[in-house]
Amino acid sequence: MKFMDKTAINPAIELPLMEAFYTIQGEGAYSGCAAYFIRLGGCDVGCVWCDVKDSWNADKWPVTSIDKIVEEANKHPAKLAVITGGEPLMYDMSVLTANLRSQGFQINVETSGAHAFSGSWDWVCLSPKKFKAPLPEWYQHANELKVIIFNQSDFQWAEEHASKINSGCKLLLQPEWSKQEKMTPLIVDYVKENPQWQISLQTHKYLNIP
Ligand code: SF4
Repeated sequence: MKFMDKTAINPAIELPLMEAFYTIQGEGAYSGCAAYFIRLGGCDVGCVWCDVKDSWNADKWPVTSIDKIVEEANKHPAKLAVITGGEPLMYDMSVLTANLRSQGFQINVETSGAHAFSGSWDWVCLSPKKFKAPLPEWYQHANELKVIIFNQSDFQWAEEHASKINSGCKLLLQPEWSKQEKMTPLIVDYVKENPQWQISLQTHKYLNIP
């Protein structure tokens, strides 16, 4: 295990790994599915309500070989890998996704879309953030658009992104955790009025699992 400046990382062989764990996907379209989470260190998006601020500084996390990451992923029964962060697309995801795919994994990603597209994905969860806008190229790749609702104005903001998305994309509204008591009833009403949207809840937090 080694630590280094992330600018020195070669994402063809290694990545800063904050944590990796086998659990149940708690939110979005794959909610309820067993999955191996690979959380990469590093994020420059800066959401004020981020619940993984520890991930922001990539230099804090051990630079881990992609071979090792895939080897660990392979120790679990479910062949669903979720790549998250941080913002995983700060790194070229080509080799990590190719190696997971060669081992038979379905590969899902959770991204803000703030960095250039790379990698080969079975499912793209695009979760745009106000703090650093997604690049336009992401809209065509998104399988689900997951908008975090922190305040009332976020509904309008969600619609702005939905107007750019490809036609088959699922549209999800998810209450920001610290505001969920206030915002969930508003989301319920909004989805009833605008049924093209669905509610996404962070069920792993209710279940008290990672
Ligand atoms: S994009 Fe994700 S990891 Fe980065 S600051 Fe926002 S919520 Fe946190």
